[in-house]
Amino acid sequence: MRIPIERDGERSLWQQIEMHLRQSILTGNLAPGTRLPASRELAKDLNISRTTVENAYATLEADGLVMRHVGRGTYVLDPGTRIPPLGGRSQEGWPRWQQDLLPTARHLAHETIASSARRHPAPIALTGFGDPRRFPVKDFYRAIKEVMDRDGTAALDLGDLRGYAPLRATTAHILASQGLSVSPDSVLITSGSQQALALVIQILLSRGDTVLVESPTYDLALEFFRIYGLKVVSCPTDAWGMQVESLESVLQQQQPKLIYTMPNFQNPTGVSLSLARRHELLALSERYNIPILEDDFVGDLRYEGSAFPALKALDSNGQVIHMGTFSKMLMPGLRVGFLIADGPMYNRLVELKRVSDLATSSLIQRSLEAYITVGRYQAHLRRSCQVYRRRRDAMLNALDRSLPGARVIPPHGGLFMWVTLPEAISSRALLPFAIAEGVDYAPGGRFFTDRAEGEGYLRLNFATQTPENIEEGVRRLGTAIQHYRLLK
Ligand code: PMP
Repeated sequence: MRIPIERDGERSLWQQIEMHLRQSILTGNLAPGTRLPASRELAKDLNISRTTVENAYATLEADGLVMRHVGRGTYVLDPGTRIPPLGGRSQEGWPRWQQDLLPTARHLAHETIASSARRHPAPIALTGFGDPRRFPVKDFYRAIKEVMDRDGTAALDLGDLRGYAPLRATTAHILASQGLSVSPDSVLITSGSQQALALVIQILLSRGDTVLVESPTYDLALEFFRIYGLKVVSCPTDAWGMQVESLESVLQQQQPKLIYTMPNFQNPTGVSLSLARRHELLALSERYNIPILEDDFVGDLRYEGSAFPALKALDSNGQVIHMGTFSKMLMPGLRVGFLIADGPMYNRLVELKRVSDLATSSLIQRSLEAYITVGRYQAHLRRSCQVYRRRRDAMLNALDRSLPGARVIPPHGGLFMWVTLPEAISSRALLPFAIAEGVDYAPGGRFFTDRAEGEGYLRLNFATQTPENIEEGVRRLGTAIQHYRLLK
């Protein structure tokens, strides 16, 4: 095997070998199932020590890109269906019930990407959600302290199953300020909105049922639907969100049990559903008796224009279940989200929440409520909108300069920019080049049911980095494209 190495290069020899093999595997040049040369053989070919090769192989194995069988050799794994490290055991070493799980025991692709990105001396991740440097650490610390002093043991008990009552009231209050009038009794606090999604699915759908989503859509919703054994049908999107006009025949033919949508600053495209389409979607949902799950994960992060009413606010018939979160405006590690629902659905949600995790942390709910109530939240939100707006503009300018030929629909809010790559560039094949340059992004494939549909796109997060880093990150992306074009 010929691997180009530079003996006095910037990176150590094992890193160079590891990078070369990683790129070959991720670009498909080394196909799944290929046997890599034995470490002794490769060491001799390259005139380096065997330990150097062993180090490179061990790192690839830890990232799930190759699998090593003692006595049989090292094999390339399918990067799309990476098997997690097997704790030093060969596949056959596990009990049979564990072996049955192996084909479905996948790595999350972005975990591997993040871990490789760390290897660049100063990587810039255009991924993730909000900017951790903007977490209001001191204010939140104060809020926790206040709550502990004020509530003592009550703060450490389980508390109300539906969520801490004052936080439910405050949530209703925040929603009212956004034009959505709900009673605190319709609010259920959840452990992040990811749990809200899981609860709704488990109540309304069974294995084999169909869910309708936007295409593209939130990757971890797709992952959840896959793990839960659902059939996913999708409706294409454009600059005004889901193309609701083409939906009726899909609803008639596929009979989905639920429509899952992000009407505001959608993940991954950043677009919002137009008002006319909001009305039409509701009308269809009523006509075909299909509930809508409205995921409003960043509705508050608006940088220009005025908001359209939430689907839930337009819904006079009780078709819509609304979910939201404090993760994006504040801190994802709080794990506080909420559902708005009524009637039997609300009761079923409470019941399922109880058997799922008993309750969302009372201390965190109380501290969040204390933090919000003194108005710090509104101030933090206003400031975040200013900061993120500047970052969005910095990214649009940088894309103009460094990625000629790429197209993007400028988002009016949220966290993401959806980039259509120039010509026939595959975002999956480009990724190793980008990582080598020290920039990370989310390749488009993971947001589609058919990954191939996403090859020509990538998602950039503009909220996590400073304007300077955004500028540099996008410049690196431009360099990665040049290298890709030379080598492809
Ligand atoms: N919905 C969307 C669209 C998201 O991007 C996320 C965050 N990954 C969630 C829901 C879940 O977020 P959380 O559980 O932190 O509220």
